[in-house]
Amino acid sequence: MGKSAGGKADRGQAPGFVIQWHDATQRHFDMRLEVDGVLKSWAVPKGPSTDPSEKRLAIEVEDHDLDYADFEGVIPEGEYGAGTVMLWDRGGYRNLDSEHSVAEGLKRGLIEVWLDGEKIRGGYAFKRIEGGDKPQWLLIKMRDEAADARRDPVSTETHSVKSDRTLEEIRQQESPS
Ligand code: MN
Repeated sequence: MGKSAGGKADRGQAPGFVIQWHDATQRHFDMRLEVDGVLKSWAVPKGPSTDPSEKRLAIEVEDHDLDYADFEGVIPEGEYGAGTVMLWDRGGYRNLDSEHSVAEGLKRGLIEVWLDGEKIRGGYAFKRIEGGDKPQWLLIKMRDEAADARRDPVSTETHSVKSDRTLEEIRQQESPS
C-alpha cells in the first residue's frame, strides 16, 4: 500500500479528528481532536449537528492516546468506558483561528476548526460555558457551505467508517463469547 492509498496516509502531516459512537450506560458520541500529540476529547450526548441553529452540549473528558483514534470494538464490563464503540467518522481538520493555536483555544474556551470527515464537514465552533463538574462546551456548526439544516447524520448514518458495521453488529461480533 502506497502512502497515498487511504485517509490514514495523511496522518503526521495534518492533525486528525475522529468521532466514536459509544453505546455505554448512556449512548453518546465521543468527539476527539488531535492536538499536540494527544486526542483532546469531548462526550457529546446528541452528537454533532449540521444545523447552525442547534447547539450541542459537549462535556470535556480525559485525553486519549493517538492509538485510540482507530479503535472500534467492545470494552468489557467493569472497565472505563464499558460498552460498544463504533468509529463513526474520521478525517483531517484545520484551525480556522488565525490568531490562536487550538491548544490556546482550549485554554481560552473557544476553538474554531474545519472538519473534513466522511459524514461531518465544514466549520465547527467549540465554546466553553459555565457549569458542571467537568468543563462543558457547546459544539456549534458554523454558517458555511457545508451547513445543512435538513441533514441529521447522527440519526440517518448508522454505519462505521472503518468496517461499515452497525453498533449491533460490532457488539455481536466483538463481544467475548
Ligand atoms: Mn465515551
